[in-house]
Amino acid sequence: MACIFCEIIAGRMPAHRVYEDEFCLAFMDIMPISSGHVLVIPREHAANIWELSQQASAALLPAAQKIATALQKSGLPCEGINLFMANNAVAGQSVFHAHLHIVPRVQGDGFGLRFPPGYGQTASNAALQELAQRIRAAQ
Ligand code: 5GP
Ligand code: ZN
Repeated sequence: MACIFCEIIAGRMPAHRVYEDEFCLAFMDIMPISSGHVLVIPREHAANIWELSQQASAALLPAAQKIATALQKSGLPCEGINLFMANNAVAGQSVFHAHLHIVPRVQGDGFGLRFPPGYGQTASNAALQELAQRIRAAQ
């Protein structure tokens, strides 16, 4: 099946575009979490963060920053902003073309992260050291 976001890039599917450059495209999310919810996507098809080229990856954050600045200046309700990226279905990804969500936030908007039961304990130094070592070793 064709990738919806590739179809948007190609202009075969409509989208309300807000920003474009050589590597990225940004458009309004069709089912917004809040008013002004924008998606930034790479022009190349990459399913997720692991498939993104360095070039596309390096372009996404500056694009998100431009949109975040525009949202703040736009007069839309925007007391804060969350950037969010889901990678793989287990992490909540539903469209398998990499994308960054830019979600304007206001006090009491009802959106947020749900933490697992038991969250709130500071990890031990030994545990953090072991985890850090494993991540360093895997680079
Ligand atoms: P994910 O769940 O993969 O992190 O986010 C996918 C996002 O894409 C959702 O927020 C969803 O509303 C949005 N979306 C899905 N299909 C379309 C579409 O055809 N057009 C636009 N503009 N957004 C879409
Ligand atoms: Zn795609």
